[in-house]
Amino acid sequence: MNKTIQIAIDGPAGAGKSTIAKIVAEQLGFTYIDTGAMYRAITYKALQQGVALSDEAALAKLLEASTITLKPSPNGQLVFLDGDNVSDVIRTNDVTASVSQVAAHGAIREQMVAAQQQLAAAGGVVMDGRDIATHVLPNAELKVFMSATVEERARRRFVDNEKRGIPATIESLIEEIALRDKLDSEREVSPLVQADDAIYLDTTSLTIDEAAAEILRLANAEMN
Ligand code: C5P
Repeated sequence: MNKTIQIAIDGPAGAGKSTIAKIVAEQLGFTYIDTGAMYRAITYKALQQGVALSDEAALAKLLEASTITLKPSPNGQLVFLDGDNVSDVIRTNDVTASVSQVAAHGAIREQMVAAQQQLAAAGGVVMDGRDIATHVLPNAELKVFMSATVEERARRRFVDNEKRGIPATIESLIEEIALRDKLDSEREVSPLVQADDAIYLDTTSLTIDEAAAEILRLANAEMN
C-alpha cells in the first residue's frame, strides 16, 4: 500500500495552487487544506467588526475567539467562520486588498500555523499557502513552489473572478497581485520564499491538468 505523505505547495497569488492542489488531493484521496482561506476568514471578520488591520493584539484576540473550519464539498472546499458559510464573501475585493496586512502579524501567524499543523497531523494532506514548506510543514515529503508570470496569473484571476461575479480589469488585477506579492515576500515574519528543498514549477505555459500531473508524478515517486 502507498504510504501517506504531506505535500506542501507554496507560491505567489494566482499561480494556480489551489486549483491544482485540489485535483492532486482528490486523485490521491488526501485532504486538501487551503490556508489562504483561513487568513481571508479572519480578515473578513476584522473588516466586519471594524478592527484596525494594524492592531496586532486586537486581531490576535479576535482570532482566538473565532472558529474557522474547512469542509470539503462537491463544489470545492467550504469555509465556515463561527458556523457561518463565508466561502464566497472571503473572495471579495475588500478582503483580497486587506488580507496581506493581517497575515503579516506574527501573533496571527503563530495561531494559524498551530491550527494548520494540527489539521495536517494525520498525514495524507495537500496544503497550499505561502509558508507551508518553510514553517507549517517543514518535514513535508514533497514541497513544490509554484509560480507563473504576473500577466498570466492576472489573466487566470480575471477568468476566475468573472465566474464568481467579482468585478475587475486585467490591469487592476496585475496591480493587486504585484502588490500582494510584494507585501507577502517582504514581510518580516515568514515571508513568501521558496524553501531550499522545494521543487520549482513554472505553470505559465502549463494547463491545469499538466501541472497537476507533474505533482502527481512527483508524489507517486515519493510514495512508492
Ligand atoms: O492563497 P490566497 O491568495 O487566498 O491567500 C491570501 C493571502 O493570505 C495571501 O496573499 C497572504 O497574505 C496570506 N497567506 C499567508 N500564508 C499562507 C496563506 C496565505 O500569509 N500560508
